[in-house]
Amino acid sequence: MYNMRKRSEESCICGEGILNVMPGYIYGNCGRMQMNIIVLMKQVPEIEKVRFDPEKGRLDRSSAGATTNPFDLNALEAAVQIKEKVGGIVTAISMGPMKAEEMLRDALARGADKAILLSDERFAGADTLATAYTLAAAIRKLGAFDLVICGEKTVDGDTAQVGPEVAEFLNIPHAAYVEEILNVSENNIVVKARMERSHYIMRLTLPALITVTKDVNTPRLPTLRDKIRAMRAPITIWRYEDLEEVADPRYFGFDGSPTRVIKVYTPSAEKRLGKMISGSPEEVAREIVHVLIKNKIL
Ligand SMILES: Cc1cc2nc3c(=O)[nH]c(=O)nc-3n(C[C@H](O)[C@H](O)[C@H](O)COP(=O)(O)OP(=O)(O)OC[C@H]3O[C@@H](n4cnc5c(N)ncnc54)[C@H](O)[C@@H]3O)c2cc1C
Repeated sequence: MYNMRKRSEESCICGEGILNVMPGYIYGNCGRMQMNIIVLMKQVPEIEKVRFDPEKGRLDRSSAGATTNPFDLNALEAAVQIKEKVGGIVTAISMGPMKAEEMLRDALARGADKAILLSDERFAGADTLATAYTLAAAIRKLGAFDLVICGEKTVDGDTAQVGPEVAEFLNIPHAAYVEEILNVSENNIVVKARMERSHYIMRLTLPALITVTKDVNTPRLPTLRDKIRAMRAPITIWRYEDLEEVADPRYFGFDGSPTRVIKVYTPSAEKRLGKMISGSPEEVAREIVHVLIKNKIL
């Protein structure tokens, strides 16, 4: 277990012990705790435009532009809202090609304070486990943190595995499919999360990880001023060598991925077989029995 939580001396919390972060609640202005929030963001192909390459069995990423995974914008917005209410720093982290810098710049315009891109050929070909391991290594390298926020899933990979896997690698509690953040205090976060057709309320001890749905908020649009500021902001690039000191590089990239894709194909759409039977009720019943026997159902 790593000691990931280290607070600055000036960190403090209001008298009641709990700071509500949802709009409408009153919270004290005596002092502000400093939350160190990390948002994981992935650049994905524009899903309505991207084509599938049936020969190679994978997405032809060159067939479409790239954009921010929409759920990750909700994750970022949640982080920025918490920061605005209780104070702190939001760091956006992505693993991907250098092109993902443009997405991180947009994240800075939308309220992130720092951005880190993990980009190295040796990270490529990662399955969800290797992706999560590499992201967790970067979080570990950053040092102290309170909260990691992810989108519930991506629109390309769509597994929803990375968030919970990162939590496991960091040995911290997590809640998936969070629809509402009810409270953030110095030591806990209380969330309302979806599970099948019901909801559950969870109190997680910090540091913790949550994955959020699109219902958690409406992401803000950056102003022109924010965009210009973000254009000049630095983006930290971490390569393979930068993470070697905090992780075992054998678990990075394709070599570190236990998943082997044998074949990817589009299943042929099976049509439902239908037959109209007409006649008197007795004739219809006889015909149905005949069809069921013929198809070895009876
Ligand atoms: C054998 C194998 C090889 C692969 N090779 C490649 C490859 O070369 N290139 C490639 O693009 N994909 C590759 N993939 C797909 C890649 O594994 C997944 O895209 C990736 O692990 C994320 O999984 P997901 O998209 O299902 O994310 P989910 O688990 O659905 O994402 C949940 C959340 O996790 C966070 N997250 C996920 N991925 C990232 C990321 N990269 N950076 C920051 N945050 C993230 C986001 O907050 C996201 O909302 C490969 C998959 C397999 C199985």
